[in-house]
Amino acid sequence: MTDTPAREVQLVSRPVGEPTAADFAVVDTELPTGEVVVRNTWMSVDPYMRNRMRDVKSYVPPFALGAALDGGAAGEVVSSTAASHPVGATVLHGLGWRTHAAGPASAFRVVDTSVAAPQAYLGVLGMPGLTAWAGLTAVAGLQPGETVFVSAAAGAVGSLVGQIVKLRGGRVVGSAGSAEKVAWLRELGFDAAFDYHDGVLPQLREAAPEGIDVYFDNVGGEHLEAAIDVLKVHGRAVICGMISLYNATEPAVAPRNLSQVIGKRLRLEGMLVSDHHHLQDAFVAEVAPALTDGRLVARETVVEGLDAAPEAFIGLLAGANTGKMLVRL
Ligand code: NDP
Repeated sequence: MTDTPAREVQLVSRPVGEPTAADFAVVDTELPTGEVVVRNTWMSVDPYMRNRMRDVKSYVPPFALGAALDGGAAGEVVSSTAASHPVGATVLHGLGWRTHAAGPASAFRVVDTSVAAPQAYLGVLGMPGLTAWAGLTAVAGLQPGETVFVSAAAGAVGSLVGQIVKLRGGRVVGSAGSAEKVAWLRELGFDAAFDYHDGVLPQLREAAPEGIDVYFDNVGGEHLEAAIDVLKVHGRAVICGMISLYNATEPAVAPRNLSQVIGKRLRLEGMLVSDHHHLQDAFVAEVAPALTDGRLVARETVVEGLDAAPEAFIGLLAGANTGKMLVRL
């Protein structure tokens, strides 16, 4: 066991609007004990955590004040009485935002680091990757040759959505929040990309003059409204996230054009990645080889140290990341 004091990130107040550093505290704790004890090496920074900071009923319970934030993490087993989880093994878990995690062996999944680096299991081969793959295949039923629009396209989920569409012979348009991100999307092979700060609907119309078959929504609001305008008859929208609303203190004003759903016979379907874990093997079978031979690129934005985790989370909501936002411990 290490003699480094254990530390964790706690939520100390519920943010109103944009979170600030004062909503978090990084505190020393006792080293935890359990069947398996893990020293974390990577933590995942995810937008859904913002919704857990509200004291409202949802598909996951709210974070408690004065307690560590849960979240995806990878680490190394430093103590274990479980033969399945030997000391030195790399494991994934959801006990998140702390230097050390402990619990029954069933709380930790051993991963093979000869296939990919530990942090890949928090990104391209993990939850965001499965979200992109399952959203396109199981929810949208993507067909070869179709045109897809994806928002937050330079993020963890969005950048994989676009690249999977290209692997499957489709056409993809992406929106993102800066000229640098737009340039990167073009490098990745997106057929068109634009900065949404210059307006969504006109640029989407120009990029997809014949309309879109699928909208992969990570943003909601004005993006969803524009997509509804441009979706073809029988088009589908995968409602994956609505990050433009996560800090909102007032209800959304858009989309104002929902009545088009009728005439165009659109299908708008919400998705949760947790419904699609049975697709993990099929997803990895397509994505892992593409990653290995370079047909698919997984970029990471890495913030160093547990103390910087609140800043990484605040930055994620403000677009500081390209690709997957991670904290390295
Ligand atoms: P990202 O890596 O995409 O990071 C979030 C990005 O959102 C930022 O980089 C920023 O990029 C963009 N963003 C922030 N505010 C706005 C805004 N007001 N308008 C437009 N874009 C904005 O995160 P993830 O890939 O992890 O998640 C993407 C989406 O998918 C989120 O909505 C998330 O909640 C959702 N999700 C849903 C899951 C499910 O099971 N339903 C599972 C996983 C994720 P930019 O610079 O371009 O603004």
